[in-house]
Amino acid sequence: MIARASFLGGIAAAATAATGGLDVWDSSGPQIRVLVTGDLRGSLPQVLADGTFVLGGRRWRGAPSTVGMPDGRMALVTTLDVDRYLQGVVPLEAPPSWPQQALAVQAIVARTYALGRRTLSRAFDVRADEGDQRWGGVDAETAPTSAAVQLTRGQTLTYDGGPAAVFYSSCCGGHTADIASAWGGAPLPYLRGVADPHCVPAPDYRWRRELPLSQVIAAFGARTGGTIAGASLADADDTGRPRAVILTGSETVSVPIAAFRRALGYDAIRSPWLRALHVDGTDAGARLVVEGSGRGHGVGLCQWGARYFAAAGAPAAEILAFYFPGTAVGSG
Ligand SMILES: [Zn+2]
Repeated sequence: MIARASFLGGIAAAATAATGGLDVWDSSGPQIRVLVTGDLRGSLPQVLADGTFVLGGRRWRGAPSTVGMPDGRMALVTTLDVDRYLQGVVPLEAPPSWPQQALAVQAIVARTYALGRRTLSRAFDVRADEGDQRWGGVDAETAPTSAAVQLTRGQTLTYDGGPAAVFYSSCCGGHTADIASAWGGAPLPYLRGVADPHCVPAPDYRWRRELPLSQVIAAFGARTGGTIAGASLADADDTGRPRAVILTGSETVSVPIAAFRRALGYDAIRSPWLRALHVDGTDAGARLVVEGSGRGHGVGLCQWGARYFAAAGAPAAEILAFYFPGTAVGSG
């Protein structure tokens, strides 16, 4: 034990010197394998002495290895302590200026998500992009978010003694979404949706967009007879979110919300929670006016809500119990 502690102490000292003192833990936590790129295109990582490596102009942590993928390409996977990985994840999801307990919430949720993705069925556990959680590597790390990762070390969200399935998005718009209604599949008791009074000040709590009707016709006109004269919302689920958009030309079609967003863009149609839409004007100047609530899918944690909830003095465990009712913060 003494020899091992001494050995790790040497590594920790070197890492601390390289990162300004942020690395205070040993490497005894759970490991995670992160797919940095699925196609190396002939480049190789440049391994540095401080436990980091350079690839694609960015510095990353962990022990990199090349892996042959099923599609024949060479991928790069790095294996590292889950919390060293989270140091480069949390700052991309929660600005370092947010309250410490909001950063702690993000760290616990991101850790729960990552550990829930560990698998023996492929050569990596998580992707470094939005396919799982975006990981910015060393360059993305900030002191407040790294402190939140350390503060919550070992903590994950559990339900009924096992790991909870966690999701998060930017702003729920006043009520989080029901996972079964949003994505189909089996309902989860802690992901049925809750009324959220906390995110009211968020930038996308309510939004309004005007799209050229020609853009909507280009996307859906083949099914409406070449024109669109009217638009309305289909019936809503229990959280208030409509299930479809009804577009009327010479034919009337029902477009599921997911298809509507995909066709018109996630930046314009910022969430699935549409509150009103109508066609305004005629001819070349005609527009589709869309009003909605929130940003992102709305399932699970509302990140802006957590920010204001934490600013009001709530600790991370209380915030998580609000957005995931019936869960607890535990270790494992
Ligand atoms: Zn919210």
